[in-house]
Amino acid sequence: AGNTGKSTWNGVGILRDGHRVKVLGNVGSPADAAAAAAAGAEGVGLFRTEFCFLSATEEPTVEEQRKAYAAVLAPFAGKPVVVRTLDAGADKPLAFLDPEPEPNPALGVRGVRVAFDQPEIIDRQLEAIALAAKDTGADVSVMAPMVATAAEAAWFVKRARAAGIARAGVMIEIPAAALTAREIAAVVDFVSLGTNDLAQYLFAADRQLGAVAALNDPWQPALLRLIKLVGEVGVATGTPVGVCGEAAADPLLACVLTGMGVTSLSMNHTALATVGARLASTSLDVCQLAARGAVGAHDPASAKIAARAPH
Ligand code: PEP
Ligand code: MG
Repeated sequence: AGNTGKSTWNGVGILRDGHRVKVLGNVGSPADAAAAAAAGAEGVGLFRTEFCFLSATEEPTVEEQRKAYAAVLAPFAGKPVVVRTLDAGADKPLAFLDPEPEPNPALGVRGVRVAFDQPEIIDRQLEAIALAAKDTGADVSVMAPMVATAAEAAWFVKRARAAGIARAGVMIEIPAAALTAREIAAVVDFVSLGTNDLAQYLFAADRQLGAVAALNDPWQPALLRLIKLVGEVGVATGTPVGVCGEAAADPLLACVLTGMGVTSLSMNHTALATVGARLASTSLDVCQLAARGAVGAHDPASAKIAARAPH
């Protein structure tokens, strides 16, 4: 899908036929944000707010949060930034949330689940995000992590609206959420696929464990088929579908995802130019053929070969 030639990237995600796919940065600190802006990110598709407070032993005040978020939003005045609410638990424990020890933290009270029992924590965070958006002029949306059902998505969107935030969406990173994307799309403004956790939960394979890394390969056809379902819902309902997991940073996979109907790709700043250039070298019909080939494959290696075949 597309050539790998010397095409350079002009900082706008656009295929050679004019089809637009936003190319965005994943950030967790002011340094990341500066690097993403310098590398030409059109905005931010994932701001991991938990990274601001990994060492905090008490909940940061609204004012402290406002300052921390504004420092990350500052380079993106007038540009879209998706701020994810705290995704604590499992690999990213937050001391101030005082979690109960759990036998299986990846399957426990993590991500947005923490907020169901303590809604005031997410309400204070949403308030701080709204203030930081005003401070910086960034075009801010909010997004909840680890959403499993449409009811949870609706719960979050209601709180975001109450905080005066214009757009609210959720991550699709639990297989149940992917399978009910249609119901979720009906209650949110956008969704974003977290392919790292989606693979982990789809294959029952810890994303941090090297011994099962082959199952967490984003080229696994089962993962691609699940992503395709979400892409189709996005196209059918006019809901923007982003990808903010590692899959978005692979230039060939970026083409496959685009062919599935994904409308934005968010990645580490180091991948922006390569992915942007690859997209500029291909077209939507080639991406759609690449996607069809990849989802029909039997294993990751043949999915990659099938995705390369169309051009
Ligand atoms: C993901 O799960 O793919 C994702 C983008 O979120 P995180 O890596 O922060 O869990
Ligand atoms: Mg995740």
